[in-house]
Amino acid sequence: MAVSTKTRNLAFKQLGAYIRQNEMRPSRVREAVLEQICQLQQPFTAEQLVQGCETQQISVATVYNTLNLLVLAQILCATSRQRGKASTEYEIVVGKSARVQVICTKCGRVTDIRDRLVEQIVKERKYSNFVMRHYSLFIYGECKVCRSHKRKEK
Ligand SMILES: [Zn+2]
Repeated sequence: MAVSTKTRNLAFKQLGAYIRQNEMRPSRVREAVLEQICQLQQPFTAEQLVQGCETQQISVATVYNTLNLLVLAQILCATSRQRGKASTEYEIVVGKSARVQVICTKCGRVTDIRDRLVEQIVKERKYSNFVMRHYSLFIYGECKVCRSHKRKEK
């Protein structure tokens, strides 16, 4: 499912601000990649994005460069997943100030969780010479399903 119009607009707004702040030239190709990302099911892999951009004749190098830029601009968040093999998945996080996820290292299942205590603690943290804008917290372990499989094997 594509992201909401509200999230899409926020992402484009943030990209525009990042381009201005860093005195870069606006690029139609970059915007086309972001548009494609907004159409993808979240989270997505770089390979899925490359496939989606094929019809628009956007080069693989441009897709990867844009992915990196969107991570730096805090529009996307990259997460390492282990589904058999290690891979990186991306997700639009613009507009979200907090993200806590539990990730199963056996099957790769990712679940967004709401942990108000953690959110409260992080919100009140102050770091010298640093202003926190948002954060992601990934908690790795084993999900209930994988744990029950393990018990049956014993
Ligand atoms: Zn699992």
